Amino acid sequence: MLRKMHTDQFNVTIVSPRNYFLFTPLLPGTTTGTVESRSIMEPIRKYCKRSDASEVDFIEAECLSIDPVRKTVKCFDNSSVKGLVSEFELPYDQLVVGVGADNATFGIPGVRENACFMKEISDTRMIRDRIIDCLETAGYPGQPSAEIDRLLHFVIVGGGPSGVEITGELNDFIERDIKKHYPSHLADRVRITLVEALPHILTVFDKTIVEHVEKKLRSSPKTKVWTQTAVTSVKERELIVKDQDKVEKVIPYGVLVWATGNGPRLVTKGLMQSIGADQNVRRGLVVDEYFRVKGADGIWAIGDCSVTPYAATAQVASQQGRYLGRLFNDLSEDMYRSVKGKESLSDMDKFVHKQPLFKYHHMGTLAYVGDHNAVFELKSADGKSSSTTSEGLATFILWRSAYLSKCLSIRNRVLVAFDWVKASVFGRDVSRG
Ligand SMILES: Cc1cc2nc3c(=O)[nH]c(=O)nc-3n(C[C@H](O)[C@H](O)[C@H](O)COP(=O)(O)OP(=O)(O)OC[C@H]3O[C@@H](n4cnc5c(N)ncnc54)[C@H](O)[C@@H]3O)c2cc1C
Repeated sequence: MLRKMHTDQFNVTIVSPRNYFLFTPLLPGTTTGTVESRSIMEPIRKYCKRSDASEVDFIEAECLSIDPVRKTVKCFDNSSVKGLVSEFELPYDQLVVGVGADNATFGIPGVRENACFMKEISDTRMIRDRIIDCLETAGYPGQPSAEIDRLLHFVIVGGGPSGVEITGELNDFIERDIKKHYPSHLADRVRITLVEALPHILTVFDKTIVEHVEKKLRSSPKTKVWTQTAVTSVKERELIVKDQDKVEKVIPYGVLVWATGNGPRLVTKGLMQSIGADQNVRRGLVVDEYFRVKGADGIWAIGDCSVTPYAATAQVASQQGRYLGRLFNDLSEDMYRSVKGKESLSDMDKFVHKQPLFKYHHMGTLAYVGDHNAVFELKSADGKSSSTTSEGLATFILWRSAYLSKCLSIRNRVLVAFDWVKASVFGRDVSRG
């Protein structure tokens, strides 16, 4: 949205607790070092400093709450370095909420305390560090056999694209790098288990693709896929699951990755409560066809924090951002012309309704499944029947090319391409830290 907006026509302030943009589609690769984390980060400040007239303010802070009546946003500094002022209130005329979503834990006890999530760079750094730590700890002299098995059991909960991608990345890491650098009595004992509550993984994909991926993952002796298995609680070293026959099992683990989808953030929930009756969907902010938050004046919402007919993907969020940037530009031109003609600005609705509606262009769904294999699906226009599906090495090349082209900057593209070459020539780095 920022890149589309003519920022010389507005006073724009961005508030975000992280001062960089993160290209999440390549996040699973950072858990094993296929891609380095800095290669998929891009500083927001690079897009703030333009010519004097179009400069944008950035404040690195987390928004705590939004007051839709007073039209203010309360923010605080959640970083480790604090000055004398660490809380402030910001007034707004128009507010665009794009805070994304939190990790859904479904209230399952112990998840927040013990599992690793996969949303932020800090999460994937932690996963990478723990995997190597488990391997090193398993090699301690005199380590009991059952403890070695626990430490070398990596569990992923959630069989959606993110869970499957990290399973594939882990498989590659173990086959190509861990086996090369670690003694076989450790490397051969590594096991990966993918746990999914539904009868199948990758439910967003066509049945033939699902069968192909399930067969492929299950063909690896170290990988297990447990479908129809629900996690009921998570402890520090083990998780409790109920299988399809409702039999309870205790599963010891070394690393647990939680990738079960989205829930609303606290700030989103708070805004929904302040608005009241118009916000009655638990998933997020209900918006109209122009992304205006229902029941609030001057608040817009896009991306994962909003409830729309589209999936919570980067593909949708970026198109919504571009659309809203364009809409604001057009609104400003329309309203400027109106002021010249001495018309009233009081009814903004009149201007918004003149704007074209958002049209989503679906480019297909891609997922990496490991071992130079990816899957692709492009649904037909009605969204019901599947028109194109593909899998295998050619799709892997398509996956890499598509994601490379979607990286935010040329710098990101060069760094990611370099990381891929580096990982295939020299292998991934197995040092910790
Ligand atoms: C591992 C993984 C893989 C994915 N792969 C794909 C893929 O291959 N293709 C695809 O299309 N989608 C993919 N997605 C989904 C995609 O990342 C999201 O749909 C997309 O990032 C949503 O964009 P957004 O701007 O709404 O939210 P986000 O990208 O989450 O951005 C939200 C921003 O708001 C900031 N923020 C959070 N809380 C606050 C607060 N209280 N105050 C102020 N700022 C706040 C955050 O720091 C962040 O900068 C993937 C997601 C994950 C986690």
